[in-house]
Amino acid sequence: MTLARFQMCIGGEWVDALSGKTFESLNPATAQAWAELPDADEADVERAVQVAQQAFDSPAWRGLTATARGKLLRRLGDLIAENKEHLAQLESRDNGKLIRETRGQVSYLPEFFHYTAGLADKLEGGTLPLDKPDLFAYTVHEAMGVVAAIIPWNSPLYLTAIKLAPALAAGNTIVIKPSEHASATILELARLALEAGIPPGVVNVVTGYGPSTGAALTRHPLIRKIAFTGGAATARHVVRSSAENFAKLSLELGGKSPNIIFADADLDSAINGAIAGIYAASGQSCVSGSRLLVQDEIYDEFVSRLVERAQRIRIGNPQEDNSEMGPMATAQQLAVVEGLVADAIAEGARLRTGGKRPANLGEGWFYEPTLFECDRNSMKIMQEEVFGPVASVIRFKDEAEALAIANDSQFGLAAGIWTRDLGRAHRLARDVRSGIIWVNTYRAVSAMAPIGGFKNSGYGRESGIDSVLAYTELKTVWINLSQAPMPDPFVMR
Ligand code: NAP
Repeated sequence: MTLARFQMCIGGEWVDALSGKTFESLNPATAQAWAELPDADEADVERAVQVAQQAFDSPAWRGLTATARGKLLRRLGDLIAENKEHLAQLESRDNGKLIRETRGQVSYLPEFFHYTAGLADKLEGGTLPLDKPDLFAYTVHEAMGVVAAIIPWNSPLYLTAIKLAPALAAGNTIVIKPSEHASATILELARLALEAGIPPGVVNVVTGYGPSTGAALTRHPLIRKIAFTGGAATARHVVRSSAENFAKLSLELGGKSPNIIFADADLDSAINGAIAGIYAASGQSCVSGSRLLVQDEIYDEFVSRLVERAQRIRIGNPQEDNSEMGPMATAQQLAVVEGLVADAIAEGARLRTGGKRPANLGEGWFYEPTLFECDRNSMKIMQEEVFGPVASVIRFKDEAEALAIANDSQFGLAAGIWTRDLGRAHRLARDVRSGIIWVNTYRAVSAMAPIGGFKNSGYGRESGIDSVLAYTELKTVWINLSQAPMPDPFVMR
């Protein structure tokens, strides 16, 4: 099979790595190489960051009003809408995500650009009611400079959009490093950015491996902000890199989110919510509801209905419309899932369904929807993120116990609460220590709704009305109104 060939986007030009080195991207449904991409090293990253800095300083970008930047973002959103089928197909092939999921995500993607476009010219500073009558002061939100965006493989377009749109709205330039496992759609996005009229050098994409390309980018001295989404181990490298020049950071990390089902819940909805939480996207979602907490009275019925539904999930080619679960995105991720399942069995978790690769699906990295029953929240499978279609379920007797189990986690990204009791829904929404709470629904996203985590799920928020502020520096300007000479220079004014 002839491989598709991609080039990187640096300064508006399509280039290979200076070394000429490339790497292959594999199709997760077949485990076969389908594309070849440049393997960027330090020299390529240097070129991309320098070009981004020049673009930041150039009148072509710096001279634009915020309203003009907003118009460019709006145009980019429109172009994404025009190219949505192509982008959805490409992302499904590249990372093995269901075509129905990538179609859904790409169809909504323009909203992130349109919403953020509207925020570009609404970054108002303040005039300060100073307690010093001879002085006047105001604040201004300014662009930071070159942003580094580090993207994982699970939802590359969506996770890039929520960084790219606010970074550009604020007037920054950007160098994006997508995962080596899912770079194709981000290169397409850079092409659309150029087509939208965004000046060359404002959006750059370097492809390659995390420890080489990613590390070179995050430790580059000209990087002013790093927007990172990925796992905790990588985040620790990124935090260390940021210490080189104190680049500002946002970290969107993993989770072990509790999905809490009370006896008074609508059980049909809660079953669908549990499935959406853990088997959609084959569990490769940061907000996976991978810990199911189910109240005593309905526990047995809920678990047997969930097992029955999980066993009916159609696993198959992600590019076919009727598939409900595709493969793991990478062979390494499949190995991680298999390892954590083996550990769970060794620790005494009871396997109710799954726990193996399905037969008859060839070489692709498929894994069955898996469910463990657990007696203790301290078990490894209740505590560690799997990032695969593996749920663990535990019973609770009352609200207090549910809350204690829900909060007994190193993570705090998301939580689901299923109940018809309004007071209880609000009490738990208040007391569960997570950045996102869904009541009687799961996995909802919106351009208007911030996402991000408490505890080891990271810091900073993406999306929503404050998203652009996260890509700005605040400047305070002081004006002397007095006609008198400057007073005593040895006393603070
Ligand atoms: P990962 O291994 O941490 O990789 C994330 C990104 O970091 C990739 O682009 C990777 O490049 C790059 N990278 C690796 N080593 C690096 C280094 N030393 N310096 C700089 N960059 C480096 O994560 P993943 O396995 O792709 O994604 C899964 C994780 O992301 C899960 O923990 C999941 O929960 C989390 N996630 C969080 C959110 C959220 O919004 N909170 C959303 C989605 C995913 P390569 O891939 O090329 O190595």
